[in-house]
Amino acid sequence: MAFNRLKKNKDNQSAEPIGFFKRLKKGLTKTREILTTDIDLLFTGNRKVDDNLLEELEELLITSDIGVQTSMRLIESISKKTVKISGPDQLKDALKEEIFSILNKHSPVPSSGKIVSKPHIIMVIGVNGVGKTTTIGKLAAKYACEGKKVLIIASDTFRAAAIEQLSIWADRAGAEIVKHRDNADPAAVAYDGIEAAIARGVDVVLVDTAGRLHTKINLMEELKKIKRTISKKLPDAPHEILLVLDATTGQNALPQAKVFHDELGVTGIAVTKLDGTAKGGIVVSISSSLPIQLKYIGIGEKIGDLREFDPEQFVAALF
Ligand code: GDP
Ligand code: MG
Repeated sequence: MAFNRLKKNKDNQSAEPIGFFKRLKKGLTKTREILTTDIDLLFTGNRKVDDNLLEELEELLITSDIGVQTSMRLIESISKKTVKISGPDQLKDALKEEIFSILNKHSPVPSSGKIVSKPHIIMVIGVNGVGKTTTIGKLAAKYACEGKKVLIIASDTFRAAAIEQLSIWADRAGAEIVKHRDNADPAAVAYDGIEAAIARGVDVVLVDTAGRLHTKINLMEELKKIKRTISKKLPDAPHEILLVLDATTGQNALPQAKVFHDELGVTGIAVTKLDGTAKGGIVVSISSSLPIQLKYIGIGEKIGDLREFDPEQFVAALF
């Protein structure tokens, strides 16, 4: 059964890139309305691009959750080009160009497929409810589709339901799972998982973690302990620390990312729930203000709803 689902998923992926782009575009509709319809409105009455208009544009950008600092940065670049801008389409083109250069900063080419170590360990972190477990399920399916042997470690032992949810995803993705009972020591589960991955010749390991109480020291300490335990078993691991951020939280994602990055050293970001949010500008804000590569975007709850972040595709969907 898992194989059939996997095969189906593979077929869905071969319908790329139109399928995903269309859905991304649909998901970003609310954000796009702010950026396009509202920009058209700025020009009603044959207005010229002056300080007033730019100020209104800055407000629009902030409304889409691009953030105050990034919006100011965009306006500053745009204001240097105003002689060339006489209407909404030219303004949108100028914005697209500036936004693309921000998004392209960390990711000249989608590069997350590179797996050099075996096993390659990816520890997934983030606050509760952002989509860690779902993203792990999607990533497991992606790697499994590429012919890799995948193992998932259930180090979120906070609730039995979390372990059960992860088991369902592992089954769906055609991945193995290492789990203990709920309330087990998350680091001990990680230790056993890595040991199993080495023994079984696994290619990719995805470590699920808890996300509660991110402002409290104990969660960070627990995550650090998991990280240390993994390193004890495999000195160069974890090879990736993937931080999951929820687009619907808008600007709140930034302080979250700072805390996790300071404490654990994040190597990549996945932004989830870009379907149906008016806060899609947060992607621009994240790329602009964090020194971390945006690797994946999620646009739904299904197994095929995750892709490597592609700046060009994203800008095309945004306008
Ligand atoms: P975790 O607590 O970080 O592990 O989060 P979960 O993976 O359990 O996800 C929390 C909720 O968000 C679930 O209901 C998921 O189905 C949902 N979710 C995750 N990713 C996405 C996404 O990209 N889009 C939408 N609409 N929902 C998502
Ligand atoms: Mg979870």
